[in-house]
Amino acid sequence: MEKEKVLCSYCRRKRCFFGETQNVPENCPTKIRSDLLERAKQTLREPENKEMAQAVAKTWKDYGKLTRVEETVLYAKLRGFKKLGIAFCVGLSEEAEKMTNVLLNEGFEVTAVCCMCAALCSDDVDLPDEDKVIPGYRQPMCNPIGQAAILDDEGCDLIILIGLCVGDDTLFIKHAKAPVTVLAVKDRVLAHNPLGALYTSRHIYTRIKTKPPKKENA
Ligand code: SF4
Repeated sequence: MEKEKVLCSYCRRKRCFFGETQNVPENCPTKIRSDLLERAKQTLREPENKEMAQAVAKTWKDYGKLTRVEETVLYAKLRGFKKLGIAFCVGLSEEAEKMTNVLLNEGFEVTAVCCMCAALCSDDVDLPDEDKVIPGYRQPMCNPIGQAAILDDEGCDLIILIGLCVGDDTLFIKHAKAPVTVLAVKDRVLAHNPLGALYTSRHIYTRIKTKPPKKENA
């Protein structure tokens, strides 16, 4: 029998927020995936996970008052971290420089690695010439695995991602051993604010489809 799909994104009730497990949709994971969620709760109660989650909860004391930059600093302090790593995109070099200053001024030790480290190019992953932006020319290539290797080798307690491309962030997170948090994600069109595409999607000329799909395609 096919498992019922969990789609919290369509739930209008969000009873879970109020600590309720009744009066929830039929496909509520709290009900139909209770075994998995019980195991997850036990995992959360393991000492390190518990401390990590407590630090997040403590940042809520200043709910709505702190920017993400400030919350990142606060979270690192609450966790007692000393060595912070920054993995940044070459296109956000200015932002990385400013964030380095913020963290140094807050008393952290900082290592920052650019995505272009090792000077890779698309030939290093055998990208066919016709798939390059400009065929026949060298196409620079990000090195998220290299960034993760350097920051882990430095013994970073926490790594902050600034603007890695979609998929490069995936490779980074897959290979980094230290905990990772994301300060900014890359969106070359929307000033690194990808949700802008969703916020403006009511426009009749939008390129993205944010209405629910027809049943037969769902
Ligand atoms: S967990 Fe249940 S109540 Fe909460 S959003 Fe998902 S479906 Fe809704």
